This record gives sequence, structure tokens and C-alpha cells, in this order.
Amino acid sequence: MNYINVILPIPLQKLFTYKITEAEATFLKKGMRVAVEFGKSKVYTALVYSIHSEAPIGYEAKEIHQILDETPIVNEIQLKHWEWISDYYMCSLGEVFRAALPSAFLLESETEIELVQSFSKEEMLSDEEFLIYEALQHQSRLSIFQVIEILGKKGVFPIIKALIEKNVIFVKEQIYEQYKPKLIKYIRLSDLWNSNEKLAELLEILSRAKKQRDVVLTYFQLIASRKPIKAEKLQESSNSSAAVIKSLVDKGVFEIYFIQKDRINFEGNSSGLKELTEPQEVAYNAIKTTFKTKQTTLLKGVTSSGKTEIYVKLIKELLDTNKQVLYLLPEIALTTQLIERLQYYFGEYLSVFHSKYSMNERVEVWNNVLENKQKAQLILGARSSMFLPFSNLGLIIVDEEHEPSFKQYDPAPRYHARDAAIVLANQHKANVLLGSATPCIETFYNAQQGKYGFVELNRRYGDVLLPEIELVDIKEKHRKKRMKGHFSDRLLEMITDAIDNKEQVILFQNRRGYAPVIECETCGVSPQCPQCDVSLTFHSYRKELRCHYCGYKKAMQHNCGACGSEKLNSKGFGTEQIEIELEELFPDAKIGRMDLDTTRGKYGYQKIIGQFEAQEIDILVGTQMLSKGLDFANVSLVGIMNADTMLNFPDFRAHERSYQLMVQVSGRAGRVKKRGKVAIQTFNPFHQILQQVSTNSFEEMYKEQLDERWQYQYPPFYRLIKITLRHKDFNRVDEGAHWLGKSLISIFGEFVLGPSTPSIAKIRNYYIRTLIIKIPQKQSLTVTKNNILRVKNSFQAVKEFRPIKFNIDVDNY
Ligand code: ADP
Ligand code: ZN
Ligand code: ZN
Repeated sequence: MNYINVILPIPLQKLFTYKITEAEATFLKKGMRVAVEFGKSKVYTALVYSIHSEAPIGYEAKEIHQILDETPIVNEIQLKHWEWISDYYMCSLGEVFRAALPSAFLLESETEIELVQSFSKEEMLSDEEFLIYEALQHQSRLSIFQVIEILGKKGVFPIIKALIEKNVIFVKEQIYEQYKPKLIKYIRLSDLWNSNEKLAELLEILSRAKKQRDVVLTYFQLIASRKPIKAEKLQESSNSSAAVIKSLVDKGVFEIYFIQKDRINFEGNSSGLKELTEPQEVAYNAIKTTFKTKQTTLLKGVTSSGKTEIYVKLIKELLDTNKQVLYLLPEIALTTQLIERLQYYFGEYLSVFHSKYSMNERVEVWNNVLENKQKAQLILGARSSMFLPFSNLGLIIVDEEHEPSFKQYDPAPRYHARDAAIVLANQHKANVLLGSATPCIETFYNAQQGKYGFVELNRRYGDVLLPEIELVDIKEKHRKKRMKGHFSDRLLEMITDAIDNKEQVILFQNRRGYAPVIECETCGVSPQCPQCDVSLTFHSYRKELRCHYCGYKKAMQHNCGACGSEKLNSKGFGTEQIEIELEELFPDAKIGRMDLDTTRGKYGYQKIIGQFEAQEIDILVGTQMLSKGLDFANVSLVGIMNADTMLNFPDFRAHERSYQLMVQVSGRAGRVKKRGKVAIQTFNPFHQILQQVSTNSFEEMYKEQLDERWQYQYPPFYRLIKITLRHKDFNRVDEGAHWLGKSLISIFGEFVLGPSTPSIAKIRNYYIRTLIIKIPQKQSLTVTKNNILRVKNSFQAVKEFRPIKFNIDVDNY
């Protein structure tokens, strides 16, 4: 007998075995997809992992439904990488499989039923059968799951069987949506007429069909460009119709042919690389030297030092040796600005992989990488592009490596793209370049320890000085009544100056909405989200209260829900309120806002950036979206409205993050021409982080933070594994967390933190408890993980605890 082991795209720890025929066994290869049934009615896309002849133990192997690929779409290196991810981040291979493939490759077809149109004997049907029959009058198809919902019970197979036997319904064939390449229709002259004599003859023949003659003449104009001629283009240029062209095709004058058009087509030329400045050249050579002995190198280069230009030169060199290059960026930093820049250099080698691209576009990039096509030699993408089927990687660049968004939180695999990329590069024997102006503490530590190579670039391009940073004490300003709304007189003065000089301003406020919280002046109650343990945020534009965790919204109320008082105050402030205050303070300035609310939709973000670039906006207010690698020439002032909320965030990384964010946002000022200015408003100007930001003292910040990390047992000295439990029943999750806490403490003792209640204790009606396990450097990670998994298994063996959602997050950020 022949069998295959497959990876199913579900959180199943083990591979599953299916039976195949002799013929299938010779055809199938590791990495091909098959459709299989799993559980009662679900059909999944599974991936072949091995082909063998051993029957599974404990269950009867089912047959597969069908084979979905002719050749493997996943290669061996990928599978090895998936195994590392599954092992390191403690999730199933199936979960990695699901995250790795574009969803178009993973269609799960659910069995669907349809009505036999001729059926009319309703009196033959039982009550339940009738319900299904009736539902199919309104909806042409039902899935088995819908049938289960309609009948309110699980065992619906006998009813479906009976309906089939009575010839009421039939089961629809599974149809797998195949990826369809977009074909473009082209026109060429049939060989028959392809000489000057023949052509004269043709025009003669057509002399009485004026329209057709015009089309042929236009064709000859177009062909002068020596490019294939699109049918559409021919029709348009000759001012004719599809019918005229068709009649010419029917007559055998023209022929139609198709070329597959890749949707994202970039054209460019790699000849015009910028010449590196001397410091850049030094850094570039240093990187290449470190690469000889270190797989990974950290490039710490101040904002606007030209890190991108150095990447470009490295990429060029790699592409010349026919190696693939992956350029990873945080999703939000993948802007048209950068795409255009790379497109200009590497046009025909570049593909972009972006979650906002359509499913088909992503499939196209996947296939191009799989086939190692020229146009997929350089991939620019967010974290998930690391899952593409590379076979020959030479270099991975992780730009803005400090960005928290490289970490995937939910669902599993909860991986960190920077760390997983380093492992991937290792498997390809490729190099990794980590780039940042504000490296992550762990990364800098690794560089200091000699684990990574280290190269520094401390001069901005054009020797523009780093911005001058001014701390504005707003406690003092409040006392002296020098505040207008949320603006100090100093910040207003600086904005006025910038605008008078026709320069642009960026204002940073790390919160969207109008005023985060509405509070009753009489009884102190704030409107809460009914599903989450948070206060609702007021959005004045729609006069709504919204929950930023679950999306719940309701109209703003005029009376306190608790005591009925009309005295409702707002506490704190968001981007929207800043925008409104600015409109009053600077009525002649054009003001824009960039936050999650204004950048929804595929082009929302690009549109605002485009307007700002074109200087249609004078003052741009935004959240941390603004800090991501944007390069605007005309910004001379950056204002940080309030530094304190980020500094006081309850997280051991809060200080590091605040430092990074403030330096990055400041880096948007004065990039090209003259030294920029930054104003940071704060109640606490002597805070050490603010001092370090204003004096650009990264190393001092690093040393201080590292001391604290050592003292309080945090990374890089200890690894963290976080367990999150969630359930709708408060008591159940509480009991579960205590049980789990005791079991873990019995193994790890003092290195267990919790169970604790996070500051937001309920989200979407799920109560949350967390536990953190700290792992000292000398303790074996494998043993620790095995112990955790053992405890998890016993936890889930307790009947009351089994329904509790149990997430493990390794290297929690
Ligand atoms: P970073 O990535 O370090 O923030 P960029 O690579 O974006 O810096 O460079 C900042 C600006 O300086 C960009 O507009 C870039 O085109 C320009 N620039 C940097 N290096 C050079 C160079 N060698 N020649 C010409 N322009 C450069
Ligand atoms: Zn909510
Ligand atoms: Zn009240």
C-alpha cells in the first residue's frame, strides 16, 4: 500500500496520513498540494510531506480527493524553515503552512448542496427536510455548515442522505478556484500579408472597406515602435470598434495572440546608481568585510545617512551574481516612495509582496519566485514575504530592524520576522544586513557581543546636521498660562516660523480619535465598551464613541449613562482634536491627518503621503505611522505633542520604544537642505530618555536600559515565553490560570510571573489572564519548552479547562 503524510493547515501537532494509489505515488512529490477530507465534512488543502508505505497506527487512512499541483510549490528549504519556526515558536507545522501560503493556495472547499429544480412533492418531506428544502428556495447553495446551523444540530448527514435519495438535492462537485493569469490580447498581421507587395494588395482589397483599411494603416503606424500591439490599443488608436477588428481577424488579415501580463509590472534601469559619498563607501566596504566572517551585520546609521543607497549597492552586486535578494520592511514603511526608488534602479528585477495586494497578485509573485524568474530576483516585502519559495537567496536586508511590527502576535505562528529571517539566511548560506538608526537593544547587544558584525554611519547625507531638539516644559507653560489648547506658545511660534518660510510641519500624537476618554464630571464614570475592559474613545467627526480593540461603536451621548448628568468632560487628546485645534489656530494653513482612521483602504495612506509630498498639506498630524522611513524634503519642524504617555506605558520596553519613536519621528525634520528643528512637549523634561533623545545619546540609553534589563531579568539576559489564557467565563479562566500558575511554579519556581490580569482584562467578551516564564541564558530552551508543553497537555486534559484558549508566545515583545 502507498501512503502520504500531509501537513494540514490547522493547529494539529502531528502530520496526518492518507492512502494513495500506485499511480499517485509515482506522480506525487514532497511540496505538492492535495485536497483531503479531515474530520467529518471538511475538505482541506494539504501539503505532501512524505510518501511511504507504512499504514498509520490508530486510524484507518482515507483516500485523498484529488491532486492539486503538477509540480511542488513549496521547496525543501522552506519546509526546513517551517520546521524551525514550528519548533522555536511552539506552534504546529500546519499553522506555519497556513501563514506561509497566499490564501488562494489554501482554499477549503466545504461540501455544498443544491436543489434539484424539478422537485415538487413537498408533502414527502419530514419537518427537518422541509427546512432545508425551503432554505434552498432562497439561496441556491448551502454548505454543510449552514445546514448544521439551520437545523441547530451536528448530525445532519442522515438528513442530507435522505434528501439525496428522495432526489431533492444534489451534492455540488468540489471546485477549486484555479489561479488565472491575466491574459492580454494582442494583434499581429497574419504571415500571409507580411511583405510590401502583399500589403499593397491588401490595402487595394480593403479600399472599399474604409474602416478596416484605417485599422490596417493604424497597425502599421503602431508597429513602428517594435512593441507588441494590444488589441485594445489598436482599437483605440484607429478609432474603430471590436467588431471591425474581429472582421479583419475573420478575413485572416490579423491574428490574435495572448501574452500573460503580470499585474505588477515595473520597468527600470539599474545603470544610474548614485555614487556613494565617502562615509557611505567606508560603511559599504566595512559591511562587506564583516560579511566574510559574520553571517549577520548591524548597520547603525543615523536617519537620512543614506542607508538605502548602501543597500542598493549591495543588492546590485548580489543580483550581478544571480542570487536572490529579500528586502524586508515593516508593512507600513512599504511606501510608494521606496518602491519607486528601487523600481528606478532595479525595475525588471523587482517584485513587491504586500498584504494589500490582491490574492492573484500574491500568487503571481509566489510563482515567479518559485520559477526563479528574473523579475523576482529582488523581493521587497513585509514580514510574510520571507515565506516565498526562495531557492537561491544571497542576502536579506531587514530595514528598520527595531520595528515592533516585525513580530506577529496573532494568530500563530507568533514569529519575529527579523529573527526568522536570520535563520532562513543561514539555511541558504546567505548574509543578513540589519539596518536602523535606533537598533533594538537585543540587536545592539548581539553586535556588542560579536555575534553580529557592526558598522556605523554617523553622518547624514550632505552633512546636514541632525535636528536640534528642544524640550518644552508644558507643566511650566500651564502654570504661566502659556498654553492654547494643547499647544505651548513655543511650539506655536515654531510652527508659525516654519509656515512663514513656506516649510512643512509634522506633528506627532500617539493616539487617534478626538479625546480618548469621556468622563462624567458629576460621578466620574466613563462610557465603557460592553465587550472589552476599556473606555470608549470619542471621535468627533462622526460624533461617535468607538472601541479601538473590537471596533464597537455607538453614538456620542449627551448625558452620563450612570447618573444622567449633562456635564461630560474629555480627558486626554488624540490626533483628531489636534487637527481641529490647528484649524482654528492656523486658518490659512492646509492641515492633514494620518492615522488608522484616515488611511483605510488600499490607497488611503499613499494619498495622504502624496499630498504631503506635493506640498498640498502644510501641517501633517499623525500617529506613529509617521515615523516609518518617510523622506520629505521640505519638512523643517517636527513637534511631539506629548512625550509622557509613551514613557509611562507599563512595559519593560516602554523607554526603549519611546527613544526609538522620538528619534525616528525627529528624523523626518530637515533631511535635505538645512538643519531641522524638533519640539518635544512634556511634563517631565528631566526624564533621562528625553535627555538622551535631545542629545542623541543612543549608547547612554543602551547602557542604562541594559542595566535595568539585567537587574529585572529581562531580554537579552533572559528569554520570555508568555502564555495567554482566554475564555468568556470569568471564573473558569481565573481557575485555569491559577492551576496553570501552580504547575509552572512547581517546575520553574521564581521564574514564573503571574498569573496576572493585563491592563485590558477583557477583549471581545473574552477574559484574559497571562503568565510569563523567564528563561536564564544557561537554561536549555528545548527542555524548558518540553516542560511547558507537558504542562499544557495536562492542563488540556482537565475537562473544565479544555475550552480555554491557550496561546504560547515565544520571545514575547
Ligand atoms: P536613510 O535610509 O539612512 O534614512 P536615505 O537612503 O533615505 O537615508 O537617504 C536620505 C536622502 O539622501 C535621500 O533623499 C537620498 O536620495 C539622499 N542620498 C543619500 N545618499 C546619497 C548619495 N550618495 N547620492 C545622492 N543622494 C543621496
Ligand atoms: Zn471593545
Ligand atoms: Zn455621571
